[in-house]
Amino acid sequence: MSGLRLMAVHAHPDDESSKGAATMARYAAEGHEVLVVTLTGGERGDILNPAMDIPGIADRMSEVRKEEMAAAAAILGVRQTWLGFVDSGLPEGDPLPPLPEGCFALVPLEISTEALVKVVRDFKPHVMTTYDEKGGYPHPDHIRCHEVSVAAYEAAGDAEKFPDAGEPWTPSKLYYSHGFIRKRMQLFNDEAEARGVKPGPFTEWLARWGTERDQIMERITTQVECAEYFPVRDEALRAHRTQIDPNGQFFSMPMDVQQKLWPTEEYELARTRVRTSIPENDLFAGLEES
Ligand SMILES: [Zn+2]
Repeated sequence: MSGLRLMAVHAHPDDESSKGAATMARYAAEGHEVLVVTLTGGERGDILNPAMDIPGIADRMSEVRKEEMAAAAAILGVRQTWLGFVDSGLPEGDPLPPLPEGCFALVPLEISTEALVKVVRDFKPHVMTTYDEKGGYPHPDHIRCHEVSVAAYEAAGDAEKFPDAGEPWTPSKLYYSHGFIRKRMQLFNDEAEARGVKPGPFTEWLARWGTERDQIMERITTQVECAEYFPVRDEALRAHRTQIDPNGQFFSMPMDVQQKLWPTEEYELARTRVRTSIPENDLFAGLEES
């Protein structure tokens, strides 16, 4: 069954390549339409790859991130569109500084929701993906991404909501993608240590995560087999050259080991309007007949 439509809503360019990228690449390769909606331009991202910390990059960050995003989308084989909001940045310090004026997290939810509803009504996704209520990562744009995605999923099919944003379309399913699974990182870390890398590459991450992260696995309803597309995911990630250090710990686990130890990406079915049975192995499960 092909020809279904998947929309992945993300806060910043690069999020699509680190969260559910192999799933998207697989569905695109299988003939489905996949659209990434990037809510902000990632203007406030730092240069996280030392090799890209060179003159002429920081002062044209917004353009650079557009180029990187286009390259990543081409690698994944997906379409991508911008919603045009401005990155809120990750506030740091104690007390936290106020969010910068005009940033995405300060845009009234009605306004950002209408903008996303317009894209939903235009693309007509059967399935949408976003982050959980904590954003999966405590960035104000990620939390806002959750709020706006849920609101748009609910409103898009309602003719009385946002009447100027196009003909109503009712998406069938909404998922939260879950990447930071403690069990998975523990497995990778143990494997690395068994191969003589001590301490394992994720030891610090594991120590930093509270016990709360253990509960994520319990929320998973859907595991999509996509190991074949892990190399595509990594290539897309590396296309975000300012954001990803190719020598970083993310790439430290050999590909064949990853594919063998944990060949899936994980999702939580948050809302559905079609009948399906849990656990699932396909985001489009339950849609075949419609
Ligand atoms: Zn982000």
